[in-house]
Amino acid sequence: LVEITKVRKSFGATEVLEGISLTVEPGGVAVIVGPSGSGKSTLLRTINHLEKVDAGFIAIDGTLVGYEVRGRRLHELREKEILRQRTEIGMVFQNFNLFPHLTALENVTEAPVVAPRAGKPRLSKAEARERGLELLDRVGLKDRAGAYPRQLSGGQQQRVAIARALALDPKILLFDEPTSALDPELVNEVLDVIRELANSGTTLIIVTHEMGFARDVADTVVFMDQGQIVEQGTPEQIFTNPQEDRTRSFFSKVI
Ligand code: ATP
Ligand code: MG
Repeated sequence: LVEITKVRKSFGATEVLEGISLTVEPGGVAVIVGPSGSGKSTLLRTINHLEKVDAGFIAIDGTLVGYEVRGRRLHELREKEILRQRTEIGMVFQNFNLFPHLTALENVTEAPVVAPRAGKPRLSKAEARERGLELLDRVGLKDRAGAYPRQLSGGQQQRVAIARALALDPKILLFDEPTSALDPELVNEVLDVIRELANSGTTLIIVTHEMGFARDVADTVVFMDQGQIVEQGTPEQIFTNPQEDRTRSFFSKVI
């Protein structure tokens, strides 16, 4: 369960998030759409504390992200605790961000060998390898385990990045425009993997411009503009029967 409550964030004088509240149920899929600069990436980055919020809070399964309550005050967690929390929140970026000097399999296994999930034993090399191959199999790339990122297509690299995000068995997975750096013919292979995750009950928050995919996969579609959630609802409500002018005007440009 992801609970985002009245989150505010400014950069200098510009308020980029103006009080965002959003709940994603366990196994739920929230898709965030909206114009460039509306604050979508910033919102995702607050969820794993890559950005600190100025006000409001975020909790995952009832645990505050980045803070703890001591006495009656909020205290920021120490770096080590923040890093541990981040292992429970997978994130996939537009540009894959794989380690270029590691193979596909090593990219996936590095995480669980180096930074084991709290409460779970560190995997041995052999166990990590087996788990890594399972995950690569899940994204259809078991046969490319030994390939380096430069030897893989963009779509394949992004699927490795998804397998890597899954390796820590995160409570939620965040996707920030996972297909927008891909050639059009490679988009679907990545969307199919994400669709499979959605169907298998992984909790997902996805920023995308792929409206057909959003309609397919979302439980909730969130339309953001200028740091606010203008409207949210089922895909049917938001795509077929939007209530707000700003939503209608956005869709008239992108669909
Ligand atoms: P896009 O669709 O183009 O990815 P977005 O909805 O993800 O847009 P954000 O990246 O969240 O938008 O940016 C929201 C606003 O915050 C923009 O005006 C951006 O310039 C500004 N911004 C984001 N990060 C920073 C930063 N680190 N420092 C200053 N301003 C920032
Ligand atoms: Mg963005």
